[in-house]
Amino acid sequence: MRISNLFKEKELVFSFEIFPPKVTSPIETIYDTLEGLKDLKPDYISVTYGAAGSSPGNKICELSSLIKNKYDIEPLAHLTCINSNKDFIKNILDELKENNVENILALRGDVLGETKISKDFNNACKLIEYIKKNKGFGISAACYPEGHIESKNLKEDIEVLKVKVESGAEHLISQLFFDNNCFYNFLDKVEQKGLNVPIQAGIMPVTNKKQIERIVSLCGSNVPLKFIKIMEKYEHDKEALRDAGIAYAMDQIVDLISTGVRGIHLYTMNNPYIARKINENISSVINSINRKQVS
Ligand code: FAD
Repeated sequence: MRISNLFKEKELVFSFEIFPPKVTSPIETIYDTLEGLKDLKPDYISVTYGAAGSSPGNKICELSSLIKNKYDIEPLAHLTCINSNKDFIKNILDELKENNVENILALRGDVLGETKISKDFNNACKLIEYIKKNKGFGISAACYPEGHIESKNLKEDIEVLKVKVESGAEHLISQLFFDNNCFYNFLDKVEQKGLNVPIQAGIMPVTNKKQIERIVSLCGSNVPLKFIKIMEKYEHDKEALRDAGIAYAMDQIVDLISTGVRGIHLYTMNNPYIARKINENISSVINSINRKQVS
């Protein structure tokens, strides 16, 4: 089912993100993660694409197919284009189609020092247009509540977002954020621009201080004092940091859902324990929203 249709059926969509095993590891290493996630009955699972296309396309196809055909969960295949040509992308689209994968998160990818920029695709809009012509896919795109790091400001970034939606993106997933007010401010601006597609909030529970520092330096997210205190207080106690990180993420999620946000996308970091803990604590909240829609 197309993800945009999931939003027609449900008031609130809850999904997970996983990343594929390393190129040198067999696909089976992901089975434990998927076994742990499937019982939580996510609405869909998205699979990341290696930075700047570093993982070969067939891993994304293989893993998306596994999620769809073995675990009977809707997959969303991430696809970056910054260093790919049309033939390469066409082969991936064909393989995804052959495996009944219907949803693609169309991304440009990061421009790293060594990235050879494609003549065919220098931004996500071009990929979205190309996938749209290759009929048969639901298209999602990324959005940035605090503006993309290369954008001059949020206003300019939202102009680009409008082009992404006009090019064919039917659904948006946000960059992770730790301050819900940034997300609400973004939603207001997007609404003022007249964008009317479902937007899911991307939430990442902190489990590792270094990892968060790296991510924040890459994407420039605002880190509230409350969050800094948690990282500093428990950075040397893995278990306490994990539990405090889960509690912080849950607090964010309950607030987002109660404010009427249409979807939560959990960056699971392939850790079913974290996804399970969060799911246990918010499943009644999610069910309450979706029951209300049915009655
Ligand atoms: P774009 O939408 O192309 O935007 C990139 C920059 O170019 C922005 O500053 C934008 O404002 C500007 N821009 C775009 N189009 C135009 C235009 N027409 N005119 C002027 N300016 C323009 N990376 C991976 O490598 N693998 C993944 O699996 C992955 N998954 C992600 C999932 C989510 C939910 C998010 C939020 C990000 C993900 N990323 C992933 C990171 C992403 O690749 C980077 O953030 C990348 O730098 C931008 O990708 P984009 O698709 O948003 O690019």
